[in-house]
Amino acid sequence: MEKKFETNAIRTQLERTKNLEHSVPMYMTSSFVFEDAEDMRASFAEEKERNIYSRYSNPNSSEFIEKVCQMEGAENGFAFASGMAAVFSTLAALLDSGDHVLSARSIFGSTHSLFTNFFPKWNIDHSYFKIDDLDAIEGLITPKTKIIYAESPTNPGVDILDLEALGKIAKKHNLILVIDNCFASPYLQQPIKFGADLVIHSGTKLMDGQGRVLAGITVGSKELIDKVYRFSRITGPALSPFNAWVLSKSLETLAVRVDRHCENALKLAEFLEANEKVNWVKYPFLKSHPKYEIAKKQMKAGGCVVAFEIKGGLQAGQKFFDSIKMLSLSANLGDARSIVTHPASTTHSKLSVEERAETGITDGMVRVSVGLEHIDDIIADISQALG
Ligand SMILES: *Cc1c(COP(=O)(O)O)cnc(C)c1O
Repeated sequence: MEKKFETNAIRTQLERTKNLEHSVPMYMTSSFVFEDAEDMRASFAEEKERNIYSRYSNPNSSEFIEKVCQMEGAENGFAFASGMAAVFSTLAALLDSGDHVLSARSIFGSTHSLFTNFFPKWNIDHSYFKIDDLDAIEGLITPKTKIIYAESPTNPGVDILDLEALGKIAKKHNLILVIDNCFASPYLQQPIKFGADLVIHSGTKLMDGQGRVLAGITVGSKELIDKVYRFSRITGPALSPFNAWVLSKSLETLAVRVDRHCENALKLAEFLEANEKVNWVKYPFLKSHPKYEIAKKQMKAGGCVVAFEIKGGLQAGQKFFDSIKMLSLSANLGDARSIVTHPASTTHSKLSVEERAETGITDGMVRVSVGLEHIDDIIADISQALG
C-alpha cells in the first residue's frame, strides 16, 4: 500500500551502510572513487547511475531530493545551495537569448531583481500580470514566451493565485509553468496536481524550519529536471552535503511543525481581525480573505504568514516594531521563532512606491511569520505592542 506523506518523510532513507546505522550518516566528501578503469569510463559516459563528484550529486542531496519528489508528486529534482540558486539555475537552464518570461507581479524581491536587473543582460525579457486578473494573461503571451512563473501565497501580501486556472492557461499555450511553492511548503500544497511543470522551494524557510541553513530545490518532470541538472552540474550551485543532511532530517517533522504553524497563525489572524488598532488582516484561511474559496481548494491550511495593517501608517508602524519584546525583528520566515517584518522599509524597500502599491504593500503593513511558541505568548507580545 502507498504510504502517507508523514510516513514517507520519515521512512525514506538511503540504503544502510555495513555499520547498520539507524540515522542517516553525513557524506562529507567532495568526490567518489572508482573500482577500476572500466568503472571510471562507464561512470563518466553516464552508462551507470552513481555518484562521481558532489557538484553533480551526493547521497545526502539525493535523499533530500527523493523526499521532496514524493511530497510534490514529482519525478526528479536537483538541490541547490539556496532558494535563489534554485530560481536562477532553473530559469537559466531553460531560457535562451530572446525568450520571454511571463511572471506574476507579486514575487520574491530577489526574483524580481533577477528579471529586471540581470536577465536583460542575456536578452531575456519579462512581463508581469496581476494575480487577480488571470483574464489578462493570455493577452500578454507572445511568440517568444516560454515560461509562466508565479508564487502562491504571495510574499508579503499573502494573496492567493488560482493555480488550476493558471495551469490550464499554460497547457493551452504549451508553456512551462514554474511555481515557487516556498510559502505553502509541499505539505500544504502540491502545484503539480494543478498543472505546474516545475516546483521550486527555498529550503531555508519552512523546510528547515529552524533558521539554520540556506537551501533550495527544484522538482518536476524527468525531462525538464535533466536540463536543470545539465546546467547546474557545470555551473556549480549544488547544495552542501551537510545542509542536505540537515534538510532531510527537518522534513521528518515538516507535517507536525506546519500543522502547528497554521493553527497558531489562524488564531493570531482571528485575534487581529477583532482588534480595533488594526485596519485589515490577510490570511488565506480567514473567511474575509478575497480568495478564501480558492485557498481552501488548493491548500490544506493557511500557512505561517499573516499580514496586517496598523492604523496610523508609518509612525504607528515604527512604534509597533520598537515595542515588540519577544518576537524577532528579522527578514526570515518559516522559523520556529515568530518573526515580525516591515516590508516597506526592508524586504521590499528597493521597489518604487508605485511598485509597492501594485504588490499591495502599504507603509503600515506588518508581516508576521507565526512560529511555534505558545500562541498565548505570541498574541500577548503583539497585543502589548499594538497598545
Ligand atoms: C526566501 C525565498 C526565496 C529565496 O530563498 P533563499 O533560500 O533565501 O535564497 C525565494 N522565494 C521565496 C518565495 C522566498 O520566500
